[in-house]
Amino acid sequence: MPTDNIKVLIISTGGTISMVKDNDTGALRPADFSEFRSFLPELEHTNLTVEMYPVTPSIDSSNVNPGLWKNLAQTIYEQYDEYDGFVVLHGTDTMAYSASALSFMLENLQKPIVFTGSQLPIGVFRSDARENLQTAIEIAAAQDEDGNPIVPEVTIFFEDRLFRGNRTTKKNAEHFDAFCSYNYPPLAKAGVHIHYFPHLVFYSDTKQPLKLHTLIDSNVAILKIFPGISHRMVKAILNIRGLRAVVLETYGTGNAPTDKWLFEDIKAAVERGVIIVNKTQCVAGSVEMGRYETSLNLLQAGVLSGHDITTEALVTKLMFLLGGAEDTEMVKLLLSQSICGEMTID
Ligand code: ASP
Repeated sequence: MPTDNIKVLIISTGGTISMVKDNDTGALRPADFSEFRSFLPELEHTNLTVEMYPVTPSIDSSNVNPGLWKNLAQTIYEQYDEYDGFVVLHGTDTMAYSASALSFMLENLQKPIVFTGSQLPIGVFRSDARENLQTAIEIAAAQDEDGNPIVPEVTIFFEDRLFRGNRTTKKNAEHFDAFCSYNYPPLAKAGVHIHYFPHLVFYSDTKQPLKLHTLIDSNVAILKIFPGISHRMVKAILNIRGLRAVVLETYGTGNAPTDKWLFEDIKAAVERGVIIVNKTQCVAGSVEMGRYETSLNLLQAGVLSGHDITTEALVTKLMFLLGGAEDTEMVKLLLSQSICGEMTID
């Protein structure tokens, strides 16, 4: 625990973690801050000042859209100098998308933003909410001996591990151990002590002030390849009006059928300016375009490699780049680079 008074802002967007059972009706409803405090009596005995900012209306994260990301990013940007760290309470269903989006929208981040949620509401017996929230607060407040934040990036804390937000995927709808980062190790593990792994943390290499990006273009589609996929379906997706980018979910190391029509349709879309990125359907491992004949044709059609990025990070990276970058060539260049630790480039 740090020694000086550390200020943490909890931004509540909704989700299961923010729910309590209404004593009169028995139904779940969003808790207000005083109710939240009552679940965290130990906070009084720490050197932390914890304040709360509710984003209204409180939503199930299935209703999250780029508007919420803008609101969240803007709120953190405005409160940035006031607090040492931020905790975002968020539903688990789309938490990995929101954490990924924020990692791109807040450039030069030097403070922790820890997303957390829970599988059971904070106000019910046996809930995982209290532990997740308490540890998330401690991580958001954690500083080294020189007063520097230990994990100054956008992360997700769940159950007992801290993951980089843009590497994380929800893997389980039932277990408390609901998230995983398949292609990047955890940044910290929490047991009796919290063990941090600073050599794995992404430190923004500049001391430039925080920069807010709120331009998002959601003209992005996901096209998942499966045995028997029809020409008609592929054609319909690739010809959506206004489409600017496609996440092409392929097999294994980035493979797809070698049908001539698939090659020709993809090539034609690329020539029209649609950006197509190859993302493996496997949860772990990386795309290796050209390893097999079945991905060489994609390479020849102009498809880009998504390396080992998650679908959540790729969708939000595309939306962010399309919203802000000057032209398609610049978007393609930035897609080939890791902006804030979202993929491994060999
Ligand atoms: N449907 C909920 C949500 O994502 C589930 C949860 O909070 O875990 O908002």
